[in-house]
Amino acid sequence: MTDRIHEFLRIRREAGHDDGPVMVLDLDVVRDNYTAFAKALPDTRVFYAVKANPDPQVLDLLARLGSCFDTASVVEIEQVLATGCSPDRVSYGNTIKRERDIARAYQLGIRLFAVDCEAEVEKIARVAPGSKVFCRILCDGSGAEWPLSRKFGCVPEMATKVLEHAHKLGLSAYGVSFHVGSQQRNPRMWDGALKAASTIFLELAERGIHLSMVNLGGGFPTKYLKDVPAVKAYGQSIFRSLRKHFGNRIPETIIEPGRGMVGNAGMIEAEVVLISKKAEDDKVKWVYLDIGKFNGLAETMDEMIRYPIRTEFDGDDLEPCVLAGPTCDSVDVLYEKDPYLLPVSLEIGSKVLIEGTGAYTTTYSAVGFNGFPPLKSFVI
Ligand SMILES: *Cc1c(COP(=O)(O)O)cnc(C)c1O
Repeated sequence: MTDRIHEFLRIRREAGHDDGPVMVLDLDVVRDNYTAFAKALPDTRVFYAVKANPDPQVLDLLARLGSCFDTASVVEIEQVLATGCSPDRVSYGNTIKRERDIARAYQLGIRLFAVDCEAEVEKIARVAPGSKVFCRILCDGSGAEWPLSRKFGCVPEMATKVLEHAHKLGLSAYGVSFHVGSQQRNPRMWDGALKAASTIFLELAERGIHLSMVNLGGGFPTKYLKDVPAVKAYGQSIFRSLRKHFGNRIPETIIEPGRGMVGNAGMIEAEVVLISKKAEDDKVKWVYLDIGKFNGLAETMDEMIRYPIRTEFDGDDLEPCVLAGPTCDSVDVLYEKDPYLLPVSLEIGSKVLIEGTGAYTTTYSAVGFNGFPPLKSFVI
């Protein structure tokens, strides 16, 4: 973790502001990550997935570095345009959009939309005429630590029909997209999806419709407890698959990194609220933090993402602990099936540092994830 973050936390503590938990993000790391993506995939445009961390300073930095942006709602589009970035650098990549939101995005200048069925194509044809659409195909997500469900995408055979329909309705059938699953630790997982994409390109070409773009999605990992391949390995593996399936007619490509852009740039400082046992002879201690599933660590759901945790007692003997959050909801347990090893000397009041928490923490704890406002209520 970076010296800048440690220094920031030290100064904050000395000033008496240690009322956490708090996530601190180092923009220098985000800059390095952007540069690494640009270098590893030199012919690919980067569309940062805004939902990973929509902080205005992150968006400003990436806009200045030349990044484009993948958004999922009108609020996210507005957040990106507020940086001064032009709308031709923004995609509306959610396959599930209200028609009035598509119309609003079109008014704001957005011309690139994701679809995965004919009904969505029809909405776009009605209120965003002439726009470019790309069709998302299903991916099985194996090899990913945070696999995506069947919620997005359609089978490749259907994508051909969806794009043909778009073409008939006067839209520009622009390309194919997929997402190989978040925290994808296997760089070869893009190969199968690229093969499917190339088949869609061929089938549509036979009908006189020439696609231009493959959207390679996100999935690039952050290092948590286990090592992950460097972004360079992903670039090489993806390029090999593009050559294999598209020969010397490699299409325009884009990537949509979220986690891989900001995950390792952030660190959370939290506090131990309580350490207890459920019985005198209990083998595992329960350690309760002031952060849990409802205020930042939602990705511990099913114990999928396992964050590295540092304490001031690192180096002491370790013992298995159940780690839990502070709320009165019983699902607010972070690691129990597979207890977490923490120093025996850990005390109530100790600070803990949770690393790799720059992505999907502040957004999941905010009211308004992905730009969707919190539930309105009327009490009558
Ligand atoms: C969330 C999301 C991403 C980012 O995924 P990561 O695994 O965090 O890189 C990319 N594309 C789309 C369409 C998304 O919804």
